Amino acid sequence: MSDTIARPADTVRTLPRVPPPMAMLAELTHRCPLACPYCSNPIALTQAKEELSTEEWTGVFAQAADLGVLHLHLSGGEPAARRDLVELTQAASSLGLYTNLITSGVGLTEARMNSLADAGLDHIQLSIQGVSPESADRIGGYKGGYERKMAVAGWAADAAIPLTLNAVCHRQNMGEIDEMIELAIRLKARRIEVATVQFHGWAERNKQVLMPTREQVERATRAVAEAREKYQGILVIDYVPADYYSKYPKACMGGWGRVGLNVTPSGRVLPCHAAETIPSLSFENVREKSLSSIWYEGDAFNAYRGEDWMPELCRSCERKKVDFGGCRCQAMALAGDASATDPVCIRSPLRDRLTLEVEQLSAPSVVAMNYRGRA
Ligand code: SF4
Ligand code: SF4
Repeated sequence: MSDTIARPADTVRTLPRVPPPMAMLAELTHRCPLACPYCSNPIALTQAKEELSTEEWTGVFAQAADLGVLHLHLSGGEPAARRDLVELTQAASSLGLYTNLITSGVGLTEARMNSLADAGLDHIQLSIQGVSPESADRIGGYKGGYERKMAVAGWAADAAIPLTLNAVCHRQNMGEIDEMIELAIRLKARRIEVATVQFHGWAERNKQVLMPTREQVERATRAVAEAREKYQGILVIDYVPADYYSKYPKACMGGWGRVGLNVTPSGRVLPCHAAETIPSLSFENVREKSLSSIWYEGDAFNAYRGEDWMPELCRSCERKKVDFGGCRCQAMALAGDASATDPVCIRSPLRDRLTLEVEQLSAPSVVAMNYRGRA
């Protein structure tokens, strides 16, 4: 681990009870050439002039490695919009972090891919919006995006960088799941993540065009089960089903402040990607405090750790160590109270209202997609 990078004076070395984070999502920039209607980034994007510099990011990576982080996800926006992406990858890799680039592919070239491989990039996650130029470019709002993604997958294979395809699924593309899985096979991906849309950030504005129907979700679940059997040992298929059609919520983020943290383009440290939607929380910045102090002592991280914050319904429930009461941001969005039982839970008093709302939102409509504005 590099000893040439200065650590903040308030670095907390050890604290009992809370384990160190395993993963860090570094949102290098909010800039992005695509305009996906399902984008979960906040409505107000961070401007380029507010972004952490190369030196600041490198310092954050060093603190993360000291803290115990093993996996570093380089994300955005589109991380390739950062001119220093290769330099940042190299810095992270030299600190012993496993580096994963989460990208739309736009902004990468063959030469840049080779430089990333030389810099030690361990893995690449490439988003796909559809299985043809028509559907992918329509959903991503970027002409030529599909062709670029196909090229990027080829360059990744040539550079021997393991590839995962990321497919966010919603009403507009859920009928393409079989073909998305076939595409992953053709592109020699080792894994595909089929994740049902979540309505955070910009996506919230597109609920009416993106909410899948119950039939679509059931069909998608069957398609994934069949493909898992067919491609056992060849392709790993991760599936995040639509929780608004499930009985219980997901263990969001593996539990609040338990497994990982996010750093925004301007250095705010969040327990999860959407945490800024909870108005009662305030978030500290790596420009002012050490990562370890924020992780162990930060009010936002401690707000929903453990069980004391839980409503009685969850505190007395046998599933509280399975799903940790669900998603705090979803509770905020649907119940207006981040400390409520996630309304997706069948035991929540708000579940019936949510079911009705989902039925209405998934009904056929003529509403057009509202594309993400560009930063
Ligand atoms: S617009 Fe699309 S590609 Fe860009 S950050 Fe949002 S979801 Fe990702
Ligand atoms: S009551 Fe709370 S802990 Fe129990 S299943 Fe529902 S959300 Fe999970």
